[in-house]
Amino acid sequence: MFALKPPYPDESVAPADLLQWAIETFGNRFALSTSFQIEGMVLLDMASKLKMPFRVITVDTGRLPEETYKMIETVYQRYGIRVEIVVPDPAEVEAMVALHGPNLFYREVPMRMLCCRVRKTLPFERKLAELDAYAVGLRRSQNETRASVPKVDASGPALKLAPLADWTREQVKEYLTRNKVPRHPLYEDGYTSIGCAPCTRAPEPGEPERAGRWWWEQDAPKECGLHFTPDGKVERRIDVLLREIREVSQNRHVHCLK
Ligand code: SF4
Repeated sequence: MFALKPPYPDESVAPADLLQWAIETFGNRFALSTSFQIEGMVLLDMASKLKMPFRVITVDTGRLPEETYKMIETVYQRYGIRVEIVVPDPAEVEAMVALHGPNLFYREVPMRMLCCRVRKTLPFERKLAELDAYAVGLRRSQNETRASVPKVDASGPALKLAPLADWTREQVKEYLTRNKVPRHPLYEDGYTSIGCAPCTRAPEPGEPERAGRWWWEQDAPKECGLHFTPDGKVERRIDVLLREIREVSQNRHVHCLK
């Protein structure tokens, strides 16, 4: 748990100023968390212009599109930053796939959220133990579940910063163009939000920005759980599924040791 007490920067703080405050205040216990979408790249570019060292982390779920791995190389070539890659627990992934198959996410919402939990949120939460603060590219206008995202959120185990919370998509694109910031290649194919390969596609014309994420789901939040707490019913179901997975992975471990 971070020790810094309020006051924190308020809602009027400019994105670059918030990043500078975080780097100066937390040093190595601050990181920018990104999946190399346009918002994350704006923050990365802004932070690099501050000329102070900072960490960049990303979660490799094991199901990312090839283009995302290319972005990791692009970031190194353009900014000289070696991105820290966070990976899921192999035993948990193995047990989940053994019990439910590799593409369990297409079956029902709790299965999809289980996969997101095992491959994305749990590894990220483990990484958070190293951090006091992290910045993400969330914007309020991305979808309704993000409509009230604060710029500084002190409710979790680490301070969560959303420096672009009040930016529009147009502001993001304008920054990218003006600063010649590299873009994830899938935007060229019409994608407006980018996640894992089997769970993301380009939206139809006129659809909301995040409509291409888990496009087969009706009335489910377009979130992986990193930025959303699902309702209690789904949450309890995922807890049960997760317990099963852990039992299987622990039994396999014990079996291997014998
Ligand atoms: S986005 Fe899809 S593949 Fe990726 S972690 Fe979530 S359910 Fe699994």
